Amino acid sequence: MPGENGLNQSRRTFVRYLGSSSVLVPFLGLTACGKPQATATAAPPAPARSPATAMDADAGQVANTTLAMSGSDLPHISADDPAARAVGFSLDANTVDRARYPEHLKGQSCRKCVQFKGGPTDAWGPCMVFAGKQVPAGGWCTSFAARV
Ligand code: SF4
Repeated sequence: MPGENGLNQSRRTFVRYLGSSSVLVPFLGLTACGKPQATATAAPPAPARSPATAMDADAGQVANTTLAMSGSDLPHISADDPAARAVGFSLDANTVDRARYPEHLKGQSCRKCVQFKGGPTDAWGPCMVFAGKQVPAGGWCTSFAARV
């Protein structure tokens, strides 16, 4: 049959084409000695995102979100907030239980803390420890770090 002949001819041409090393070597990424080699078009694997990097990035995102909002837009923190309780937060630094928090020194307050992002005369301001909340300038918690 003339149709089969043409088909057989096409098959032979195709097999010869596939059999040539100039087609197989680049296709399979093999060298003449048979060792696999990366193809020029293969993209290097993306580096894994370490948990620390992920946390840093997430913390930065939260910080940017917090700072993007004006301090007066944020809700005031409550002393009953579980996050506040976890760090011994007090709305009034003058009432901190010194027996329980001996690290609290007289004169320490949110206004003098590096984490406080309110203005110098603001009664309340954002705190980097409590993302999305405002703390009173006269408050205090165990995360206090003096401004230098
Ligand atoms: S981290 Fe600083 S600013 Fe924030 S609540 Fe504690 S003492 Fe106040």
